[in-house]
Amino acid sequence: MNTFSVKAFGTEAPEADLKQLAISRRQVTSNDVEIDILFCGVCHSDIHTARNEWHGTKYPNVPGHEIVGRITEIGDKVTKFKVGDLVGVGCMVDSCRECESCKEGLEQFCEKGNIQTYNGHENQLNQQTFGGYSERVVVTEDFVLRVPENLDLAATAPLLCAGITTYSPLRHWKVGPGTKVGVVGIGGLGHMGVKLAKAMGAYVVVITTSMSKIEDAKRLGADDVILSNDEEQMKNNTNTLNFILDCVSAQHDINAYLSLLKRDGQLTIVGAPELPLPVAAFSLIPKRKSFSGSSIGGIAETQDMLDFCGEHNITSDIELIRMQDINMAYGRMLKGDVKYRFVIDMASLKS
Ligand code: NAP
Ligand code: ZN
Ligand code: ZN
Repeated sequence: MNTFSVKAFGTEAPEADLKQLAISRRQVTSNDVEIDILFCGVCHSDIHTARNEWHGTKYPNVPGHEIVGRITEIGDKVTKFKVGDLVGVGCMVDSCRECESCKEGLEQFCEKGNIQTYNGHENQLNQQTFGGYSERVVVTEDFVLRVPENLDLAATAPLLCAGITTYSPLRHWKVGPGTKVGVVGIGGLGHMGVKLAKAMGAYVVVITTSMSKIEDAKRLGADDVILSNDEEQMKNNTNTLNFILDCVSAQHDINAYLSLLKRDGQLTIVGAPELPLPVAAFSLIPKRKSFSGSSIGGIAETQDMLDFCGEHNITSDIELIRMQDINMAYGRMLKGDVKYRFVIDMASLKS
């Protein structure tokens, strides 16, 4: 298979900083499109993976799964896109397409394992997949999304992971008018959860550890705020919420958040801390509460989410950085110091 080399940023060991590397991409085959990457969001999963916190990271690792860019080349069998189209790529670049989940449009749950945008396995080149911290990417057209034209492109990039990861469970659990929703952890995912739940018509409560985010919560669309490290506030809000979306990236006491649910309430975790979170049986039993998880969203649902954001004029609140600033950005994210998503301007890697 023919390949070409592109500039990228990645890491060669869990404790190493990210630096510039050269990686190989496959040349466009019949069903592929080649995308010139314009912007790439920085997800906390990029940090977990670069640092091998979930184990199994193959090095070198090039993160990045919130990609937007412009199509520069298409294969001879491509029907959905043309050269010049603005498009997005999220957390997956392929799946088996044959299993029950794939047939139902739930490729994120592919029974053979979907192919992740980075740290997956690219069969064509028999190497790990490399993500969006790079100049260009080649992706089969079925895993490429249309980006609404009315939205700011850089601020749209985070929708490809943070957007769909919060949209999908909100839809699955039928959040809407009459639902009281809590969103825990107001980072990249959490702030999108607030905006999306509000646009779906829910009453939205921000649950944060950061004093500095209280003011912002209302601007993001929240109806109320709970400072989770204030015991009094937590106690006053016991048994008040129907649904909680937990977007926290680090260890936290899940039982404290479960106490905020009403009878038959549901807490869905999308945050993926490195270590297990102990759940007390008596956090669930007395009021028939449920604790569940959710993974990104399928390709069709990702397109629905982008269209929904286009209609409602929803994008991410971003801080635009240069590729060379990525190590600083990781350090700030680990301190919860980002409002609310870093997005890399890929022109900085190309110049
Ligand atoms: P992020 O921007 O770094 O935000 C994480 C937020 O968690 C922080 O802003 C902070 O919010 C809160 N937090 C951090 N440490 C905490 C602690 N010790 N206790 C309580 N709250 C704490 O991260 P992100 O990119 O949104 O990602 C969040 C998590 O979701 C990561 O683990 C990521 O890997 C995972 N993820 C999962 C999926 C999926 O499909 N399930 C997809 C994408 C990402 P406050 O300041 O408001 O407290
Ligand atoms: Zn992500
Ligand atoms: Zn499958």
